[in-house]
Amino acid sequence: MIKVLDERVKQIHEKGAEPFDFDCDRRSTAGSVSQRACVFCGSRVVLYPIADAVHLIHGPIGCAAYTWDIRGSLSSGPELHRLSFSTDIQEEEVIFGGEKKLEKSLNELIDIYKPKAAFVYSTCIIGVIGDDVEAVCRKVSKEKGIPVLPVHSEGFKGTKKDGYAAACESIFKIIGTGNTDDVSEFSINIMGEFNLAGEAWIIKKYYEEMGVQVVSTMTGDGRVGDIARAHGAKLNVVQCSGSMTKLAKMMEERYGIPFIRVSYFGIEDVSEALYEVARFFKGNPEIMVKAKDLVKREISKIIPEMEKFRKALRGKKAAIYVGGAFKAFSLIKQLRYLGMEVVLAGSQTGNKEDYEFLREMCNDGTIIVDDSNPLELSKYMLEKKADLCIGGVKERPIAYKLGIGFCDHNHERKIPLAGFEGMYNFSKEVYNTVLSPVWKFAPRNRKHGGER
Ligand code: SF4
Repeated sequence: MIKVLDERVKQIHEKGAEPFDFDCDRRSTAGSVSQRACVFCGSRVVLYPIADAVHLIHGPIGCAAYTWDIRGSLSSGPELHRLSFSTDIQEEEVIFGGEKKLEKSLNELIDIYKPKAAFVYSTCIIGVIGDDVEAVCRKVSKEKGIPVLPVHSEGFKGTKKDGYAAACESIFKIIGTGNTDDVSEFSINIMGEFNLAGEAWIIKKYYEEMGVQVVSTMTGDGRVGDIARAHGAKLNVVQCSGSMTKLAKMMEERYGIPFIRVSYFGIEDVSEALYEVARFFKGNPEIMVKAKDLVKREISKIIPEMEKFRKALRGKKAAIYVGGAFKAFSLIKQLRYLGMEVVLAGSQTGNKEDYEFLREMCNDGTIIVDDSNPLELSKYMLEKKADLCIGGVKERPIAYKLGIGFCDHNHERKIPLAGFEGMYNFSKEVYNTVLSPVWKFAPRNRKHGGER
């Protein structure tokens, strides 16, 4: 039997048990081997898809591991974001300071790649040695004539959420610097959409078909020039609310742009994301007419195909462990549509309000977990007899080692899961993995030591 650490007990709840005294929104418990990434990782997740900027990691080379081409964020033009640059701080710089090396690296990169902006990510050691990254960025920006933006993302200074906040603060410095003359009165910014496997393109096409102008996508297939004029849009449409709500609030305060929270996963949520925008522009009823036509057409394309998946998946059990809780809400609806039961639902960065909502949505017996770790996930997936795990790159080996089907719903995926076609892809992927014959060889499924 796997035991849960005493310090973690209040971050786990079984729906149905009383009281619901849930703990979240706090630093990870030391020694618990959290699945959560560091502050720097939170920042790079948000900023890296800006494809015409240089992304320079100021720190030892280890921080830059796992940055080159690990994301499915696609670009329709420049691909600078697929490169990984590091100042590769060594012992000498740790002792005497890394500012000179940072300045040299920035000058060299800007001369070679001619980016539209540069982001400089401060890592743990930079926070410790106290390099004045702001001053170096200011100097290089003045000399080269492009925004050079420090990202205060020292890994130790908080949680992944603090990394999101640091990224939002950097982006905010670009917004407001571009020309908005050609921005229509029916215009939006798509925020918290990272164009994984081309998802932003799918969503952008929907809105454009409705007659809505998309000024910028932040940050999938992002361009510095588009972000600079994002303050001209009339509405901010925020997905992945954990990462971008802060920026939406900053824009509301400074530029008076309201925002809505949406999700593009699942038939119900993507339809509602389109209708919500149409409702906002009620002055132009044509937008709602087009939205309804689009939804009707897209649904009629996928529904007949879905029957096979629904039939085969009915009654199967799923565990969800994702970055933001908002995605978990959509996944629960999608899995219910497929007839599946959610036995575990958790996130890395959910807040009290998110977990209360999650609890309302879940059935009795479902495990709700915040900032989990491999042991806990293994324990509950085994105890609850999950047939499927939905997570990211760090959950994949856990599922496979337990002999459980896995669906990648994180930044590394290569198949679009957003929009109506995404719902079809998602259902097909779940079907393929849950029904795979390979699981009969997993130890937990062998009968009397049987098939090998
Ligand atoms: S925790 Fe610190 S040292 Fe580790 S990757 Fe993050 S920034 Fe780098």
